[in-house]
Amino acid sequence: MAIVTSKEMFKKAYDGGYAIGAFNVNNMEIIQGITEAAMEKHAPLILQVSKGARAYAKHVYLMKLIEAAIADAEQSAGFDLPICVHLDHGDTFELCKSCIDGGFTSVMIDGSSKSFEDNIALTKQVVEYAHDHGVVVEGELGTLAGVEDEVKVSAEDSSYTRPEEVEEFVSRTGVDSLAIAIGTSHGAYKFTAAQCTRNADGILVPPPLRFDILDEVSKRLPGFPIVLHGSSSVPQEFVKIINENGGKMPDAVGIPEEQLRQAARGAVCKINIDSDLRLAMTASIRKYFAEHPDHFDPRQYLKPARIAIKSMVEHKLVDVLGCDGKA
Ligand SMILES: [Zn+2]
Repeated sequence: MAIVTSKEMFKKAYDGGYAIGAFNVNNMEIIQGITEAAMEKHAPLILQVSKGARAYAKHVYLMKLIEAAIADAEQSAGFDLPICVHLDHGDTFELCKSCIDGGFTSVMIDGSSKSFEDNIALTKQVVEYAHDHGVVVEGELGTLAGVEDEVKVSAEDSSYTRPEEVEEFVSRTGVDSLAIAIGTSHGAYKFTAAQCTRNADGILVPPPLRFDILDEVSKRLPGFPIVLHGSSSVPQEFVKIINENGGKMPDAVGIPEEQLRQAARGAVCKINIDSDLRLAMTASIRKYFAEHPDHFDPRQYLKPARIAIKSMVEHKLVDVLGCDGKA
């Protein structure tokens, strides 16, 4: 199978009450960990590449690694692994065009920091080029707080999506999916202590997602796929391993998985996960180094890191996204 768009994936996900996982990729081990999990669980997959990932690994390396993953699934498991390759947070028409010309099947144009009219104009320009080339487009309304690669937004500058704007935005731009802000946040430090309460173990409990906004948006856009960014759950077992093995990540906290599961049952068809991959990998490597101070072969510590990513992704596919067996 070749790389596919998310069109069919989203239609089935919307009707089936589940979501597709969109995992950020940066290197071979991360791509292998994610795709091996998807093979095992027969799950459709979106692999997404940020501007920073493209700068780090180069476009062609990531494309060839993803093509290799599809070929490997076919050869080793006889399985047609459906993968959509998506640009995460495209910020200019030129960047989107370059990814479309380079074989991506989906791009995000993030005009959320612009005025409503400027966001529409930029998004429409990308949609016209993308649709001419058989590529789908994700737009964004509302801004998430937090840090993701080159996207940095303070809590004061973040804003929830205004449901009264979504119909006009979608009809005037022609986007295929829409990212909205309902209280998720980028990075491993999604919320300040002041925004949270603490549970009995002293762990921060974040404010609940604004399902009222999601409900209002989905009522206004029936059948239309909604996207959640900043949706890592920052598993506390990884944070604990990191902190116990020389790391320092106090008060790292994410979105509770049951809230993501609830969103996936509704109009949310794509859930972005990046920080949890980083945490799984970092926890594994920190633990490995602490236990084997004399080891220096990268294969020794990257192999368990790849396994840690695989098992974390399997858990997401089955217990959070509900997309296992849907490929
Ligand atoms: Zn994002």
